[in-house]
Amino acid sequence: ERKAALTASTGPGVTADGHKVPLLANVGGPADVPAAVAAGAEGVGLFRTEFLFLDDSKNAPSEEKQVEAYRQVLEAFPEGRVVVRVLDAGADKPLDFLTPADEPNPALGVRGLRTLLDHPDVLRTQLTALAKAAEGLPVHLEVMAPMVADRTDAKAFADACRAAGLRAKFGAMVEIPSAALRARSILREVEFLSLGTNDLAQYTFAADRQVGAVSRLQDPWQPALLDLVALAAEAARAEARSCGVCGEAAADPLLACVLTGLGVTSLSMGAASIPYVRSTLAKYTLAQCERAASAARAADSADEARAAAQAVLSGE
Ligand code: PEP
Ligand code: MG
Repeated sequence: ERKAALTASTGPGVTADGHKVPLLANVGGPADVPAAVAAGAEGVGLFRTEFLFLDDSKNAPSEEKQVEAYRQVLEAFPEGRVVVRVLDAGADKPLDFLTPADEPNPALGVRGLRTLLDHPDVLRTQLTALAKAAEGLPVHLEVMAPMVADRTDAKAFADACRAAGLRAKFGAMVEIPSAALRARSILREVEFLSLGTNDLAQYTFAADRQVGAVSRLQDPWQPALLDLVALAAEAARAEARSCGVCGEAAADPLLACVLTGLGVTSLSMGAASIPYVRSTLAKYTLAQCERAASAARAADSADEARAAAQAVLSGE
């Protein structure tokens, strides 16, 4: 038992019966890398590149500046996976020179990939910088777009990646219910999916993630959210593709087990949560996780879902 505990505090993410669930870190830039490495992250599941754009409110960072920052993150995980998200501007992350100032509903306006498709030069520079940063490194670079709504979006992003000569896997974030409902169609254009459960909850429940008064509806245990996660994970499984979670949901150890039971293939979170998720996952088999997931989906509220999963996993 002591050996198991030691393994659980340092090794890769794995259930008690050996089902692998890579545990990856969410990072905002090179400054977050040491904590990710110290926590034993198996790579980066979400590199939020917005930070690079915050220094200057009028211009995008130069290609050279971007190459430098991306390279520092990529070098930290020589054999690992690094999933870079292209710029997600707008709504809760406005940028003066890119985000329209006159939108009545910024969360429903031009944000994420929509912004980049309106500013192809910004996307092209970012993709070119990523291609240069990865040159000569053995890292498994994956690049994904935020706020993909449908297959048309996914194709536009994949075309831009190819045009920039990027040798990487291209993926789509599932943050809009339409993307979860039509995950299989999106996978005709891109190779992997990553669920952004923060935005997916916001758009599923029409509940602004920045408004505390509606936080009950932002709870990632909401069974409707779990249903959408299951849809996306099942589509990915049918196409033999990966489908990770990189929203806050992955950082809740009990929910991480449920997500695993729903068929999610990797979990990405702030580095501080990795040890807890690793040790919780190591206690249960995949079959237990699947039973907990079914029990949670059968519930009628977030609180009931959490209690039902807890009851299954504690053997009640
Ligand atoms: C999400 O929406 O869940 C996500 C991971 O992206 P962000 O929180 O940066 O919008
Ligand atoms: Mg998001």
